[in-house]
Amino acid sequence: MLRLTFFLASLLGGVNLYLADDIVLQFLSGTLSVFSLGISIIWPEPLPPPPSPNLWSDAPEKKEREMKTCSNCGKAVDQKWSMCPYCSKRV
Ligand SMILES: [Zn+2]
Repeated sequence: MLRLTFFLASLLGGVNLYLADDIVLQFLSGTLSVFSLGISIIWPEPLPPPPSPNLWSDAPEKKEREMKTCSNCGKAVDQKWSMCPYCSKRV
């Protein structure tokens, strides 16, 4: 459908080029004609299907980052951290 539209536009540009007697108009319609013809040739007709909505639903659970609790304020902090971001004490 989109390709057909571009092909039609290039056809119209060609007709314009044939009918126009102004050099600027001729140049413009020629450019439009070549451009849209090229697009109508290289445009991929079937658009790729949208990804299924449940694509990421069964991601592995073990990617969850490991946590530990701060010994001072009891909040959960990342395993790699040596200082608590909440109370600035060593964990
Ligand atoms: Zn803390």
